[in-house]
Amino acid sequence: MWNEEQLENLIKSLLQEIMPQKRYTVSVEWGRGKSLRHTIQMGKRNFLLVRLSPLMAQAPENVVKALAVLLLAKIFRFKADSVFRKVYNAYVDEHIMPQMPAVTHRVSSRYSPKGNYFNLEEIFDELNSRYFNARLPKPVLGWSLRPAYTRLGFYDRKRNLLVISQIFDHKKTPREIVEYLMYHEMLHIYIPVQQGRGQRRLVHTAEFKRLEQQFPNYEKIEKWIKRKRHRL
Ligand SMILES: [Zn+2]
Repeated sequence: MWNEEQLENLIKSLLQEIMPQKRYTVSVEWGRGKSLRHTIQMGKRNFLLVRLSPLMAQAPENVVKALAVLLLAKIFRFKADSVFRKVYNAYVDEHIMPQMPAVTHRVSSRYSPKGNYFNLEEIFDELNSRYFNARLPKPVLGWSLRPAYTRLGFYDRKRNLLVISQIFDHKKTPREIVEYLMYHEMLHIYIPVQQGRGQRRLVHTAEFKRLEQQFPNYEKIEKWIKRKRHRL
């Protein structure tokens, strides 16, 4: 069981390895709730605030270290060795996900619309009035629980859940990118799924694509997503 001071020391020693020339004040807190979400923020005077999910409290040192490296990579924008992601994911898959099914129906407690840089709730409301006469019902909104580079977002009608990949909650992401991803998922709420030939369900219908392409800067945004998302 980790206490906050042990975590602070671990992060401080990692920082000293990664950027020996700078001094940081590190504060670690346990997040609230049962979601598997960790955040890292840089405040004034090199003050680094790290919030870890309490689900990590029992994790072994190499896992917590891997997670810390991933968080530092995110804020200091360096590419962490892929082994850290593997170590972290393996632990999550083996020790955390199996405990999750008991709470899967309580979708809202696991997903949060508030990111470090963008609030999905705000963006949904803005787009809803701009493009849908404020008539779309608001689903549960949240950043994905894990970084996803291929499934950039989804709308799950059964769970009434709209999720955007957390990789876009990033300083380098222009707001219009997040708006566009949200708009795409909102079109899924707006346009019902059609039955295609045989078993195939037609999700992105011609009508869907037509509306999608009406989004301002559509082509520029698509290009940005294709080229830049791997650098987030
Ligand atoms: Zn889609």
